[in-house]
Amino acid sequence: MNRISKQVRDTPASGIRALANAAWAHPGAVHLEFGEPDFATPAHIVEAADVAARAGHTRYGPSAGLPALREAVVAKLARDNGLTATMNNVVVTAGGVGALTAAYKVLLEPGDDILVPDPGWTNFTTIATMLGATAKGYRLIEEDNFGPDYDHLASLVGPRTKAILVNSPANPVGYQWTAGQLAELGAWANEHGLCVISDECYDQLWLDEPATTFTVAAPETPAVTVFSLSKSYAMTGWRLGYAVTGGPGADQLGAGLARVQEATASCVSTPTQHAGIAALSGPQDAVAEMRVAYRERRDVAVERAAALGLKAARPAGAFYLWLTDHSITDSAGFALDLLRDQGVALAPGIAFGAAGESRMRLSLAARPEDIDLGLSELAAALNV
Ligand code: PLP
Repeated sequence: MNRISKQVRDTPASGIRALANAAWAHPGAVHLEFGEPDFATPAHIVEAADVAARAGHTRYGPSAGLPALREAVVAKLARDNGLTATMNNVVVTAGGVGALTAAYKVLLEPGDDILVPDPGWTNFTTIATMLGATAKGYRLIEEDNFGPDYDHLASLVGPRTKAILVNSPANPVGYQWTAGQLAELGAWANEHGLCVISDECYDQLWLDEPATTFTVAAPETPAVTVFSLSKSYAMTGWRLGYAVTGGPGADQLGAGLARVQEATASCVSTPTQHAGIAALSGPQDAVAEMRVAYRERRDVAVERAAALGLKAARPAGAFYLWLTDHSITDSAGFALDLLRDQGVALAPGIAFGAAGESRMRLSLAARPEDIDLGLSELAAALNV
């Protein structure tokens, strides 16, 4: 007898984690598979959590998040994103993935479907499966700054389609949609009666031009926008993010998200939320310094890849290099071979959807010498 629910049985293991598990078991492996900053959390943020915990801020808080943190989020959105929001629109979650999960729960019932970018981050699909819903991958057009193929999108919409997910700056490809592209998508979503989930976990990791927030570009579209402190503030292990609702019905969506938090998490760790207040309200120098470092690594890596004969899209945001080679027909197998023979761990493209099959993702959130080695070993393995 299998006691595991069908939804959980149907949810595949993450292809990134599978490769990472193999890499951890491989002594001396060069780790370029994970999207995790190699910087330490800035000291003033760590200090704030320490002070809060010692002062006794160790109890439950409101499900939607500490009012002081939600106020700090509202101020950050005005400062960094040019977005006017109220506290009713903000719900604090355990990382961006907590905000995504809450958004899916609010919008989807079992049997519903959501449109997600292909390629796109693995969990865009697995969260849907876990809820008994279906994620349908939509194609991106490289020549159009990786914008959606609207004919394909239209063919995917059915009576049970409730939402479309957009991700800019994007993992794994690194594209960043223009305000015009976001506005067009918003208008399209309205035409089809869909809510937008906008994953902006890399909002501060733009590498050339500041990224536009979905609701700024498409204020008339109902949306849940997902943010995270993991990447911008090097806080992956703290598990802190937030969802912001926008467009018509924003307060209702916000109340729905808070209800999900109440039923599933109670609240996010209180000392962590105090760290979040320091991160969002304190000095932003570290964010700018990390952005400069990622930009330099991007520039060097793109040049090096080209010199080695590797084909890579130049990322405008986030911190990944998305490499294509059509001789790769089984990216998961290729990634394991590369780890075994060359000692280099890259994420297999297939982990991000069917469109990733001939591709590999290399994380730029790693030491420059490791990035260089990873590219050389990949080129050697591909014989380019
Ligand atoms: N969204 C995207 C596009 C990501 O790449 C990730 C992590 O890699 C997340 C969300 C979730 O990150 P976290 O839960 O640490 O905020």
